[in-house]
Amino acid sequence: MPRRNWAGNVRYAARRYHRPESVDELRRLVAGSERVRVVGTGHSFNRLGDTTGDLVSLAGLPPDVRLDPERRTVTVPAATRYGDLAALLHRQGYALANLASLPHISVAGAVATGTHGSGPTIGNLATAVAGLELVTADGDLLTVDRSSEDFAGMVVGLGALGVVTRLTLDVVPTFDLRQYVRLDLPREALDAALDSAYSVSVFTDWRTPRLREVWRKQRADQPPPPADWLGTTAADRPRHPVPGMSAENCTAQLGEPGPWHERLPHFRLGFTPSSGEELQSEYHLPRAAAAEALAALDEVAHLIAPVLQVCELRTVAADELWLSPNQGRDSLAVHFTWIADAAAVLPVVAAVEERLAPFAPRPHWGKVFELAPAAVAAAYPRYADFTALLRRLDPRATFHTDPLDAYFPR
Ligand SMILES: Cc1cc2nc3c(=O)[nH]c(=O)nc-3n(C[C@H](O)[C@H](O)[C@H](O)COP(=O)(O)OP(=O)(O)OC[C@H]3O[C@@H](n4cnc5c(N)ncnc54)[C@H](O)[C@@H]3O)c2cc1C
Repeated sequence: MPRRNWAGNVRYAARRYHRPESVDELRRLVAGSERVRVVGTGHSFNRLGDTTGDLVSLAGLPPDVRLDPERRTVTVPAATRYGDLAALLHRQGYALANLASLPHISVAGAVATGTHGSGPTIGNLATAVAGLELVTADGDLLTVDRSSEDFAGMVVGLGALGVVTRLTLDVVPTFDLRQYVRLDLPREALDAALDSAYSVSVFTDWRTPRLREVWRKQRADQPPPPADWLGTTAADRPRHPVPGMSAENCTAQLGEPGPWHERLPHFRLGFTPSSGEELQSEYHLPRAAAAEALAALDEVAHLIAPVLQVCELRTVAADELWLSPNQGRDSLAVHFTWIADAAAVLPVVAAVEERLAPFAPRPHWGKVFELAPAAVAAAYPRYADFTALLRRLDPRATFHTDPLDAYFPR
């Protein structure tokens, strides 16, 4: 089991590492531990999932996946990677409504941080969760679903409420998409571009006023964008979002039709996602404030550009999960892939956060952020409810971590 996260910027502080092979073994481990956290695939960029006690991987639990065609759900072990689940679902005629930019991440880890893809009418990945099974601090096994009290508080749980062992996800009939990359979008056409297809990502570098690339993932039966679409030009070869990197790592473009799971992520399973040498930050803002928020960031573009690999703009539909960054508001997600140099990047993160402050930014829970705890608390209407739930489910602070204590003091 790795001793660092994927990016290598977090070396875990755990004293012991565990890989239980049954839920009963896990229950005994949690009940007997003073401090415990779970790691999924370690693709987060901060210490939220770290511990000074026992760090547990669930990758050794039995890999049984259960599809329920009548209920249109699939129940999966927590450590299942989206890429593996997606291939299995597609073979059986099903799909998930959305995926993140990479298929390498675990379902439980992604859901715990409110991980998302893009799509004006599609929620983040946690909104597909219809049920959870978790081991709570005293080793009990708790099963909850959408009808359970406080369920909406437990899904994006930051790993703070218990060890999730299984998740039940909504599925839809499988579908095909085509991906087109368009170049040089005028800023004023951003909204139209983001609303133009099933899932759209816009990439930029903060060096020019125009937005560098639009990755349009559209239903395969929809007509391709016309030659003069929104003032852009068509990419004549496949692209990687980070300038200069090989498109071999990326999903098929140029309008070639393919199944949902081979088009929604930008990166292919089995290949390095993104640049591999990086830090990431992301802020969810009310979609209605998009133009104003981007104008505010223009003022620090000269700070952003030198430490940036690429910036991505996506949409996420509103939901009702208490700690979801999209709770109660349709969102614009502004993502930064930074260079892998924390000393150079952190002052820029602070400058970005200062500019975004008037828009009540909600940080991606799994990425680098420095927002003051009071600002985070104020951005979440259900913050106090989550803190109460945390105290009730984990009275001894078994799942405590320093960042968790900073943002949710007991
Ligand atoms: C190259 C790259 C691209 C990315 N692209 C996107 C993107 O497109 N969209 C997006 O939103 N994010 C993206 N991310 C961020 C990533 O999706 C999140 O950080 C996600 O949480 C990673 O999942 P993981 O399985 O690696 O979780 P980890 O990083 O291992 O864990 C995340 C949190 O979940 C908790 N956790 C894990 N498993 C469990 C469990 N079984 N029970 C309880 N708690 C648990 C951990 O304790 C920790 O607090 C990207 C990251 C990388 C490195």
